[in-house]
Formats: sequence, structure tokens, C-alpha cells
Amino acid sequence: MAKVPKYVYFFGSGKAEGKAEMKNLLGGKGANLAEMVNIGLPVPPGFTITTEVCSAYYQNKQKYPKSLEKEVRTALTKVEKAMGAKFGDAKNPLLVSIRSGARASMPGMMDTILNLGLNDKTVAGLVAKTKNERFVYDSYRRFVQMYGDVVLGLKPVNKDDIDPFEEIIEAKKHAKGVKLDTELTAEDLKELVVKFKAAIKEKTGHDFPEDPLVQMWGAIGAVFSSWMNDRAIAYRKMYDIPESWGTAVNVQTMVFGNMGEDSGTGVAFTRDAATGENYFYGEYLMNAQGEDVVAGTRTPLPISKLKEQDAKLYGQLDKIRKTLEKHYRDMMDVEFTIQQGKLFMLQCRVGKRTAFAAIKIAVDMVGDKFISEKEALTRIEPDQLNQLLRPIFDVKEKDAAVKSGRLLTKGLNAGPGAATGRIVFNAVDAEAWKNRGEKVILTRIETSPEDIKGMDASEGILTARGGMTSHAALVARQMGKVCVAGCDELNIDYAKHMMTVKGKVLKEGDWMSLDGTTGQVIEGKIQTKPSEVLQVLVEKTLDAKDAPVYQTFAKVMQWADKYRTLKIRTNADQPDQAANAIAFGAEGIGLCRTEHMFFGEGKIGPMREMILADTLEQRKAALAKLLPLQRADFAGIFEAMHGKPVTIRTIDPPLHEFVPHEEKEQRALAQAMRISYEKVKERVEGLHEFNPMLGFRGCRLGIIFPEITEMQARAIFEAAADTQKKGIAVEPEVMIPLVGNVKELVHQEKIVRKVAEDVMKEKGVKFKYLVGTMIEIPRGAITADEIAAVAEFFSFGTNDLTQTTLGVSRDDAARFLIPYVEKEMYAKDPFEVLDRGGVGKLMKIAVEKGRAARPGIKLGICGEHGGEPSSIEFCHLIGLNYVSCSPFRVPIARLAAARAALLNSAGPAKKPVKKVNNKVKTSGKK
Ligand code: ADP
Ligand code: MG
Ligand code: MG
Repeated sequence: MAKVPKYVYFFGSGKAEGKAEMKNLLGGKGANLAEMVNIGLPVPPGFTITTEVCSAYYQNKQKYPKSLEKEVRTALTKVEKAMGAKFGDAKNPLLVSIRSGARASMPGMMDTILNLGLNDKTVAGLVAKTKNERFVYDSYRRFVQMYGDVVLGLKPVNKDDIDPFEEIIEAKKHAKGVKLDTELTAEDLKELVVKFKAAIKEKTGHDFPEDPLVQMWGAIGAVFSSWMNDRAIAYRKMYDIPESWGTAVNVQTMVFGNMGEDSGTGVAFTRDAATGENYFYGEYLMNAQGEDVVAGTRTPLPISKLKEQDAKLYGQLDKIRKTLEKHYRDMMDVEFTIQQGKLFMLQCRVGKRTAFAAIKIAVDMVGDKFISEKEALTRIEPDQLNQLLRPIFDVKEKDAAVKSGRLLTKGLNAGPGAATGRIVFNAVDAEAWKNRGEKVILTRIETSPEDIKGMDASEGILTARGGMTSHAALVARQMGKVCVAGCDELNIDYAKHMMTVKGKVLKEGDWMSLDGTTGQVIEGKIQTKPSEVLQVLVEKTLDAKDAPVYQTFAKVMQWADKYRTLKIRTNADQPDQAANAIAFGAEGIGLCRTEHMFFGEGKIGPMREMILADTLEQRKAALAKLLPLQRADFAGIFEAMHGKPVTIRTIDPPLHEFVPHEEKEQRALAQAMRISYEKVKERVEGLHEFNPMLGFRGCRLGIIFPEITEMQARAIFEAAADTQKKGIAVEPEVMIPLVGNVKELVHQEKIVRKVAEDVMKEKGVKFKYLVGTMIEIPRGAITADEIAAVAEFFSFGTNDLTQTTLGVSRDDAARFLIPYVEKEMYAKDPFEVLDRGGVGKLMKIAVEKGRAARPGIKLGICGEHGGEPSSIEFCHLIGLNYVSCSPFRVPIARLAAARAALLNSAGPAKKPVKKVNNKVKTSGKK
């Protein structure tokens, strides 16, 4: 018989059965509680029920494995022994918390219940034991409230409703004329318990269970069930957490922060999670229980105050901070509770942080010799760099706004950056407005895990309550959202969809601006301006030595360049774009689309003449007008690129995209061309195609109208010759699009080479150039060996290759693409993340065949996937030479390429890549 797995792991009394490495089995919280016990930190004893139980529970019609109950009983006895108290005992009751804890942290997504084990009997025992009636009833009312909500399901029904328990509390406070929970007496709290129980019975039909064991199993069941609640599902989708992982359940001895003014609870980061600065950052509340700090019901005190209040305790905590950082070699996020002057650790995990902080901490920890450069690189998600490139407010405009009295209030700078948008007061509206194309600022008294989708839809988040470690702040930082928290001057009325601030009224839909770096909340719109990195690199208006954020960025880039093997190019059609990309570190142009040039000033006219021409003579005459214009464009780009390779694609889109479709414009064109309007109309209609994506486009144009390719090649080579004569090196690469059959390429190549020779002769110079093709239709990939006999390079056009391989028109995919991803038909949007299993396989075939036919062939990618980290990793794995992406993604691509090299350190695969699927790599994630 197979051995029955162990389902329960004890921790406490200086030794734990688990450890940090066991996250898959124990969940993050359980594994780290065990680890803290093992490194000698004060942790209340308890036990962890494994994630395997969760999986078994869902596979087996929500029933537990047989041996679980006995294991739980044994572990509970061990805890009772360690504590010298008994669960359910009327005289000396042990109380526990029931805590969820998945493998990846999902802050606040699932439910926790505190003070479990209280009932009318044990309450009396606890009062006798502690002689503190107020504390006991405070704990009891919290327990009934949490249990009623989480296990028995008494929750607000509508989005504008307030919590039914809060409603009862508010009524009580109102009747007593007090403001804070702490002002309620033991007698008040006792009444609340009775009212809570009655409300539960009335609204849910359930009795509140008095038997502690029933309570415990009810709570355990609720934690497992919460794995499948809407917000947990939404969160998993957002962060790519598989459903199969399941959650663990932790049962842990309660320690009490609500025993009076010598007790308290807090949350801290070992470094500043917003800026990354190396100082102890935390918040605490005296006479409070855990949830109070995070929930934002009271705004907590900064940890520096604890130093004044109790230097010894602070010293102890600070020492733990150092121990943890050294042990985990990372910035940690901790929860602690002080019970009558004694410190207990309740949780630690690697802390979530903003991009600023992630980068700064990684770089600083290399300096501290905690981690290596390589490890630093694997700790920064490439997309996080986006945050460093994002706009900030124009200081002058903001100052003017403040001077003119538009500063509404100031809160905590919980998520740095600048955001301007229209006010909405709930998450549902935020999503709806965003879907209508509006920019919104989600404004809440406090946020809760239910709000995450709405937070994701917002430019920025503003809350009236809660600190730097409140839910809003935590989640905003992780999402990279601007967030200002704890603005207690805001008076928000959810029902009326409005708020007042210092007498000013703001309604839903009004414009507002948040400075998440300073915490300022400003009425109206404010212009934004480029980030520090852009000011140094692109605008050149800031000196690197005055730009600390830039310096950190530069270090990361320097390290990335050291370890990556992929080259990074950019997609740029104009000299200014090329210059930006070079500033960001681009090593060449991977795609210069010539068609954009035709829309430029003075060019669209001759272009249209060319398209509508009746005869070859007319067409050549129009092309002759275009030649000098295109030549000047290419010269500009060659100059900007200073000898770096430039891949230029010959004309690609269907011609109808260039001609006017409105009568008025058609008449104007007819006049300019001195032909009849009817003729223009007829020609335009003649260009109509049912499926232009698969129509008369790409190399097909150059084959039917060779004079177009001829003109373009001439423009390229004349520009190359002229630029070289100026003493600037050039490296043109002419790329023929949409080739599916080598004959197409042979045809075009002949034209290009002939022109190159002519130009060299005419200009009396020699220059190097390449002729190659895009691989963007399946036949091209499959016959890549034949094509490589002619092509000196391939560039994968993965936008079209995805469309043609999947048989999906991108422009028509909107109706089903998102549902497809939701239903997991596609793991990801294939136009965003390369479909490794299909498109990727074709690429691999093309790489192998191409290299076999022409060992020195240059291989790159120019589809939008070239700037997406997972796709870049795939390009690394199949051994491409470079990726090409938009200028602003170049830094992201540099880092992604370095991470691809480091995380797959066996090097680019010569043999078939193992495990080709479309899952995003999760390695290196927190
Ligand atoms: P989450 O995963 O949402 O943070 P937790 O399980 O960490 O939920 O618990 C919520 C709050 O309750 C935290 O502040 C935590 O410190 C506190 N808490 C949990 N268990 C205990 C306990 N045994 N004693 C005292 N406080 C607790
Ligand atoms: Mg917690
Ligand atoms: Mg294409």
C-alpha cells in the first residue's frame, strides 16, 4: 500500500517540522513561520495543514483525507502542551487563529479568523484568567464578526452598502457619542456580540457555533473554500498563479495586541518598499489586533515612534530585522504583535516593492555583498523598468496648481509616480469607466481585496484611511500604480458618489491629480513630463550625476549588457525614433518600415499618383518624385545610426491603405492629377480587397510592380553612398517581406543587387549591404532551407506569423481573444506573448533549416514579441542573434535578454528546447 502522506506540520518550542524551502507544501506563510522558529525568533506555536489537503479537498468533492483529523488532533495536543492551555477549556482556554497561506503570497485575498475557541463559557474563563473584561469582549466581538463574515457569509450585498457588522458598530458608537472602537466599554462590546449573533441568525439562518472544534473545522473549511472565491480567482489570473497550487491552512496560538496600552501590533518592511531606501520602515498601533493595521480602520503610527515609546522593544525588533535580511538576503515584510511588552513574530515574507525599490534594493544589496550582480538581475522583472520610464508631473505646472489653491490635501506617498484622471468611488465603476476609454482615479475610504480589478483599471488610487502598509498601498505598489493613502481630510459619501475636502465638493467624474511621490492630492488635470531616465538619456536636460534614479538604472543596464548574448535592436522609422533608441542602448534597427515615410509631408501626393497610374511611364514619373524624398529619409536614419546595422523593409501594406476613400478627398486628388473624379473613384474601388491581410501586399507588390522595389533600393543605396562619403559608416540590410517561396525572393534580390551595383558605379564608392527576408508566413518557415540559399538574414515577423499560423486575424480577434484567454484556450494573448508551441515551433524549424543551409545567417525578430520578456527568452533559447523592439522597450529587452541568459545558463540550446510551452517563466518571481 502507498504510504499515507504527512498532512500536518508542527512549529514551535524552538523547532519546526518545516522550513523555508517547503513553500510548495506549506504555503509561504507556513514555510516562513517554520523558518523563523528554526532561526530562533519568537513565534507563537501552531501547525500547518498542507496544500496537498487543499488539492485533495477539491478533487474529492470537498472532503478531507481520512488521516487528517487524527493528525490535527495530535498537533493540537502538542500546541496545548507548549502553551500550558487547552482548546475549549472553560478555565484555561487556548485560542488560535486560522490563517490561509498559498505558495505565492496573495495579500488579503483569502480569509483569516482570529480568536477562535471563544464561546460563552471560555469567555468567562478568559476573563477570570486575565482580569481584563474589555480585552476579552473585544476579542470575542472580533471573532464573531470574522466568523460571521468568512464562515457564515454575512457580507454587504451591494457595492454601495456598508458592512453589516460595521453598521452595528457605527450605530453603537453613535449612540454612545464616541469616535473610536477603543472608546467602547466591555459592556458595549458584550452587547455587540449579542447583536452580531442575532444578525447572523436573522440574515443567514445559521446559529453561531459554540463548540470550539466545530468552529475550528468550519474555519478550516472556509479557508480552503476561499481558494475559489472570486477575488482569489481574479488575483491568480492577474499574477499567473495556477489553480492547482492550492492553499495551506495555519492554525496558530493567538497572541494579543489588544490587551491594553502595553500591547500592540504592527507591520514592517526591512527597507522602504516605495523608494528602496535602507531604513526600517513600518507602522504599528497600540491596543489593536492584526487586521486593524492593514484594514486601514485606524491610521497607524510610524515605527520610529516605537523607538521613543519603548527603546528596548524597538531594539529587539531592529535586531530581528537585521537577522532576517541577512538570513533571507532580501528585503522582508514582517508582521509582529506585542503582548504586554513581549514581542512575537507572526509572519515574514519577501517584501513586495515598487520598481524603484526593486531596482534600488537589488543594486544596494550587491553593494552590501548580500547578493551577486547576476542575482540582482534575476530579481528585477523587466517590465518593472517601465515604471522608471513613466512620466512625472511637470514641476512648474504642479507648483502653479498648488499656489492657485488647487491642493486639496496631502496623504501618504504610498505608490510613486504621477496620475491624472477622473474620480470614481468604487471598483465596479472604475472598470466600467476604463472600458469606456476614461482615465480614472479610484477614490475609496479604504480598499479591500474585492477592489483589485478596479484598482487595476485606474491610473491612481486614493484612500481616506490606512497607512503605508494598508491594502491599497500594498497592492498599488505591486501593480505599479500611483497611490496616495490615508488622507483623513477626505469625507467620502459612497451613496451620493461625491466627497468633500476642506469644504470643497468633488463629484464623480471630476478631474483630479495624484502625486504618489509626495502624497499631494490636487484638483483638476496636471500635465506630466518625462521621467528622470528620459531627461538624462533622451531630452539631455539633466546631468547623470544629479539623477540618482538614473544612476541605479544605468548600473542595472551595465550588468545586463555583461550577461546577455542576444543583441538588441529597435523598430524605428524616423531619425528621432532611432536616436531615442540608441540613447536607450539599441545596437541597430531591426525594422524600418518604409511605408510610414509615404505619409510624410509632400509624399502622399506622388505616392497616390504612383498607385493610380495607368501606365508604366506615369508610374515611373511618380516614383521619380518619391525617390529624393525617400533618399533623404534614409540618409537621416543612417546618420543617426552611425554605422550600426539598419534593416529596411521594402513596401509591405496593400496599396488601398494609401488612397483616399472619401469623396471630397477623391475629388481633390482627381484635380491634382488632372483626371476625372470617376476615374479616381473607379481605381480606388478596384483596389478593394476582401481580406487585405492575405491580399496584394508584401513582396507581391514588388513582383508585379518591380519599379517600386527598384526605386526603394535606389533610395536606400544612394543614401548609403552619400552618407559614407561624409565619413559615416553604413550597414544597410534590405528586407523583402512576406516571402513564402524562394522564387519570390530570387526575383526581388536580383533587382536589389542590380541597383546596388549601379549605384556603386555611379557614385564611385563601395559599401557593404545584405539582402534578406522576413519569415512571416508558414510556408516561408517550412522552406527556410531553400530561402536561406538566397537570404543573408531572416527576421521573424511574428505579428503576421502568428496571424497566419493560428489562422486568426488580429483586427477581428477582439470578440473572442479575451474570452479565449479566460477559458484557457490560449494560455496568453498570442499577439502579446509568443505562442511557443505553434508559432515558436515554426520559428525553430526555420532557425534549424536556415542555419543548416547558410551557417552564418543572421537571425532576428521584429514582431512586437521582440519587446516582451517571455518571448525574448524564447528567442534566446532558439538561438536568435537579436531581438528588435520599440525604442521605449529597449531597456526592458536588454534586461530580459540578460535574465534569459542567466536563468537558462546552459546557454542557447543547440539541441531541441525542452518543455516548449506557452507558460510565462515564473522563475525569479517573488
Ligand atoms: P493575511 O494573509 O491576509 O495577511 P494573516 O493570516 O497574516 O492574513 O492574518 C491577518 C492578521 O492577523 C495579521 O495582522 C496577523 O498578524 C494577525 N494574526 C494572525 N494570526 C495571529 C495570531 N495567532 N496572533 C495574533 N495575531 C494574529
Ligand atoms: Mg499577513
Ligand atoms: Mg508582416
